[in-house]
Amino acid sequence: MRCPVMCSDKPRSAPAPEARPLPVLSAETLARLPLFRGESAEGLEWLLDHCRCVRVRAGETLLNPLLTNECCYIVLDGRLAVCLDDDAETAHAWLEAGSCVGEMSIIEGAPPSAHIVVERDSDLLAIDGEVLWTLINRSHAVARNLLYTLSQRVRRDNQALVESFEQQRRHAESARIDPLTGLGNRRWLSEVFPRMVERCLHGGVPLSLLILDADHFKAYNDTHGHLAGDCALRALGEVISHNTRPTDAAARYGGEEFVIVMPDTDAGQAQRIAERLCDAVRACEISDSGRPLPGITVSIGLAALADHHDPVELLGAADAALYRAKEAGRDRIST
Ligand code: GH3
Ligand code: MG
Ligand code: MG
Repeated sequence: MRCPVMCSDKPRSAPAPEARPLPVLSAETLARLPLFRGESAEGLEWLLDHCRCVRVRAGETLLNPLLTNECCYIVLDGRLAVCLDDDAETAHAWLEAGSCVGEMSIIEGAPPSAHIVVERDSDLLAIDGEVLWTLINRSHAVARNLLYTLSQRVRRDNQALVESFEQQRRHAESARIDPLTGLGNRRWLSEVFPRMVERCLHGGVPLSLLILDADHFKAYNDTHGHLAGDCALRALGEVISHNTRPTDAAARYGGEEFVIVMPDTDAGQAQRIAERLCDAVRACEISDSGRPLPGITVSIGLAALADHHDPVELLGAADAALYRAKEAGRDRIST
């Protein structure tokens, strides 16, 4: 008799709240499934005698990479999730009516490649591995449909890989950018700065470094508010961007401190650039959503790369120069 067998691979502790009957399989039902498209009537009749219908409950794990699988399933109704582990939260793809699952492990004779977790109660057509092989051997239509299914799966996985790489790239990029100013952050600087020093030392070309620090910035925040301080830092970031070359590395080093590394730039050229920056900061108009705010000034420490310097020593030299600029009254450049 061709009636469905009420069976599930998993033991159940409680009866289903509603006793919805399993669907009755027919040749027409099978013919509508992508895996059996084009299959002969005779082939479908044979299949009806060799497959069964099973119901799986939400939350069950249907396939697990740690367990061998001997069955291929086709979703008749419901939804399964392809997961990184047996937690549906890690789902990265979903299988709905018509989708095939478990066929790869049958073909390869290997454990499943992912956890398949039942997202909501689902009815599945279960085909034993041996039956699937018989079908493949005797039916070109099934073999072709299976190839198509596998090809689609490879394409989907490739697309997922591309998207995941792209996401990784975006994360890596944003981890190196200061969100307030859009300039590189200290982490980014720590990557590019040693390479720039190395290249200039090796090529025998000059390199100079500026450290800029906003003057009395604590008082600015205290008087005008932290948001106003943020506007001032954003404006300072823009001044720095507009007054540096693409080959320079400008970064927000932390708080109200910025570093500019300038390859191919000797101390004299760096002094002129620093003066231009000081002027531009003094002239910069700052506003908070249209509300004008007082301007700010910066002090700048300048150091030029010497043969004996490593990156840390060069930064230290510029920092010492900044300290002298502050000591000398601020709003100025020191070497
Ligand atoms: P000096 O002229 O000696 O540099 O004095 P200063 O007040 O600028 O230096 P201090 O180191 O005492 O204070 C730095 C201030 O910068 C304190 C801190 O709240 C402020 N600051 C740091 N990061 C941010 C930020 O992201 N936004 C705002 N609004 N303020 C910041
Ligand atoms: Mg500071
Ligand atoms: Mg300061």
